[in-house]
Amino acid sequence: MNNRKVIIFSAPSGAGKSTIVGKMLERFPQLEFSISATSRAPRGNETNGKEYYFFDTSAFRKMISENAFVEYEEVYPGSYYGTLRSELERIWAKGKTIVFDIDVKGGMNLKRIFGQDALSIFIMAPSVEELRRRLLARGTDSPESIEKRIAKAEEENSFSGKFDAIIVNDCLDRAISETAGKIGEFIGKS
Ligand code: 5GP
Repeated sequence: MNNRKVIIFSAPSGAGKSTIVGKMLERFPQLEFSISATSRAPRGNETNGKEYYFFDTSAFRKMISENAFVEYEEVYPGSYYGTLRSELERIWAKGKTIVFDIDVKGGMNLKRIFGQDALSIFIMAPSVEELRRRLLARGTDSPESIEKRIAKAEEENSFSGKFDAIIVNDCLDRAISETAGKIGEFIGKS
């Protein structure tokens, strides 16, 4: 059995990706979340080594020059995010399958690197109207920021065909069971 497998989750903002990823980690004990490095500041209760490994921009750039990352992106202007090679080894050493929550470009890069050893899943919000409604309900974004996120989501949706599976999150329970089905099948394969 190949125990160097990875599962990649990508989605436009507001599609419900984090909720689905959280449920999969609860349901499948053989999965472990890949903690990314980032140069953005911690938010709220975030702690170093739990949600992210936090670095300042110059430390992050130094690690780029040392080839410490499997992939990295400047996801938002001035904010870098990347997957450390050491993080992959840490999780595989436990015999577990790695779960990535990563932007769409990063997801496509990882799929290119891991090929058949990767299951790439694109979580899609049901429609632009629903995405707008969710972002409004979340109440954390200005109208301008909501329109920007929607424009980005429309662009990101255009890449969904490059993923192994597309899960439309119009009904959360169904999206969760569909995702669990895909994962069960993938980790059961040798
Ligand atoms: P946030 O700042 O809201 O935690 O994350 C912003 C975005 O960065 C999300 O879309 C998240 O999936 C993405 N992201 C998190 N870690 C990585 C990473 O290691 N590489 C890339 N390319 N994107 C990441």
